[in-house]
Amino acid sequence: MEKTGGIPDSIKWQAVIECDKSCDGLFFYGVKTTGIFCRPACRAKNPRRENVVFFSNSDQAIAAGYRPCKKCRPDILVFEPDVELVQKALAIFDQQYNLSIEVGEVSKLLGVSAPHLTRLFKQHLGFTPAQYLTKLRVDSAAKLLEQTDLNILEVSYTAGFISLSNFYKCFKAQMGDTPNKFREKRGNL
Ligand SMILES: [Zn+2]
Repeated sequence: MEKTGGIPDSIKWQAVIECDKSCDGLFFYGVKTTGIFCRPACRAKNPRRENVVFFSNSDQAIAAGYRPCKKCRPDILVFEPDVELVQKALAIFDQQYNLSIEVGEVSKLLGVSAPHLTRLFKQHLGFTPAQYLTKLRVDSAAKLLEQTDLNILEVSYTAGFISLSNFYKCFKAQMGDTPNKFREKRGNL
C-alpha cells in the first residue's frame, strides 16, 4: 500500500503558482527540464506542472541531482521556528493518525496550545491540523475499502477514527459517497 500523508500536491502547486511565501521551508520544488530546485516563493518563471517534482527538504532535492536556484537560494537554511513546528506536527500526524491521536495531544507534545498550532497551520498551509488529520484518515480508509476485505467497522478503526458515525460523516464529506457506496463502485469485492 502506498504511503498516506504529506502536504497535498495540489496545495504545493498552488503555492508555486502564487509564489506564496507562507509555504517557505515546508517544501521545495525541482524542475525536471532545467535540473534546478527552488523555494515555493521563487519569482522564477512558473514551470509547467508536468515538469515539477516536490521535495520536503533541500537535501532530498540535492540527492536527486538538482542544483539550487541562484535567485531564491533554497540551499541556505533559514531558521524558522514556526515552520519547524508545523513540520514536526505534520510528521507526527503522518506517522500516528491511525492511532486515534488528537490535535490537542500533539500540540501538548510540541509544547504549544492547540489554538496556536491551528493558527500556524492556517497561516502556512491554509488548512487546520484537524482537517489534515481527517484527510489522512479518510484517504487511508478509502485505500482500505478498495484494497482489503475489512468490514466498515474495522476500516473505521484501522484508519484511526474513534466513532463510526464520525467516520461516515467525514468520509461522505470528502469522498461524496458513503463508505459502502464507495466500495461498491471502486472496490474489487
Ligand atoms: Zn528559485
